[in-house]
Amino acid sequence: MFTKTGGKYIWVSDLMKQLWCEQQMVYEMEEPSLERETPAMKAGTDLHLARELAVQDIVNVEITSPEDAFAVKLINLIGMAEDFATGAACVRREIPVFGAPYGEGLFLSGIVDEIRCDAETFQLDVVEMKTRANSKTLPSTSQMATHRMQVMLYKKLFDDLVRGAVTKATIALHLRLRLDRRLGDDVLHHLGDRRACDTLGSLTDFAFARLQSLPFVARTTLEYCHQADACCFEMVAVDYDDAWLRAAYARCAGFWRGARAARGVDVEEAWKCRTCEFADTCAWRLRRIEEILSERRSACSER
Ligand code: SF4
Repeated sequence: MFTKTGGKYIWVSDLMKQLWCEQQMVYEMEEPSLERETPAMKAGTDLHLARELAVQDIVNVEITSPEDAFAVKLINLIGMAEDFATGAACVRREIPVFGAPYGEGLFLSGIVDEIRCDAETFQLDVVEMKTRANSKTLPSTSQMATHRMQVMLYKKLFDDLVRGAVTKATIALHLRLRLDRRLGDDVLHHLGDRRACDTLGSLTDFAFARLQSLPFVARTTLEYCHQADACCFEMVAVDYDDAWLRAAYARCAGFWRGARAARGVDVEEAWKCRTCEFADTCAWRLRRIEEILSERRSACSER
C-alpha cells in the first residue's frame, strides 16, 4: 500500500479521487510536487475558510510530536461535543473524524465541513459544502456520486466514534502513536482544566466519553454554492445507505490493500479522459485504445 501519509492512513478526499478515476489518483500521488490548484479550487478553499471563521476562531497550537498533532483533533472534538451539549454553539465547522470502518484494515481520516445541532431536538446533521465556479447547476452524475459517498462516509466515521467502535489500540496501531507519551506543553495549555489528561491515551479516553454522549447523525446533506456570490443554490438530501457504502468502500479498499492494480475509467466514462492531464501517457487509456482497435481489425478481417 502507498499513500501520501506513508501508509499510515488514507484521507477521505483521496477516496473521492479514487472514485472519479483510480488511475488518475495514482498518477497524482506519484507526482505530488506538481501544483494542481486551479483558480476555482483556490476560490473554493477560500470560501470554506471564510465559513469556518464565521463560526469559530482558529487557534495556533505548537506541535512537538505526532501524538500532539492527534491530540489537537481530540481537543476539537471535545470542544464540539461540549458546545453542543451545553447549547453554547449549534454549528461547528471543519470537524476531524477518523476510524477504521467495516473491518477492511484501513484507517481513514477526514474533515467534515459542518455539523449542525438542533437546540430543541438535539438532532445532528452533517452538511458538506461544494462550490461551483461557473454556473448554478449541479455537477455531473459521476461527480455527485463521489459527493454522496463522501458525506455518507463522514456519517459512518462520526457514528462509529459515538458508538465507541473506534478504540485507542486501533489508533495507536494504525498511526503508530504512543498512548503513554506525555503531550507537549502548548497542547496541555489548551486543555485548560483537563490538564490531568496529559497523555494521548488519557485524552483519548476523555474525548471518547464526551463523544459517546452525542446522538448519531440524523441527516446528511450536500450544499451547493456558487463561488461568485458565495450563496447556496441547492441543498441535496442524501439518504444514508449502509449496504451501498460498505460495498463501495470494499471495492476501494481492495486497491489500498494491494489486492489489485489500479483501474482507469470504464468505456462509458471515457469522457473523463478528455480533461485529464495524464491522457497522453496513461497506460490504462492507451491499452483500452489498443484493445478497441484490435477488436475493430478483427471485425474487419472477418467480413
Ligand atoms: Fe483516468 Fe482516463 Fe486520466 Fe487515464 S486518461 S488517468 S483512465 S481519466
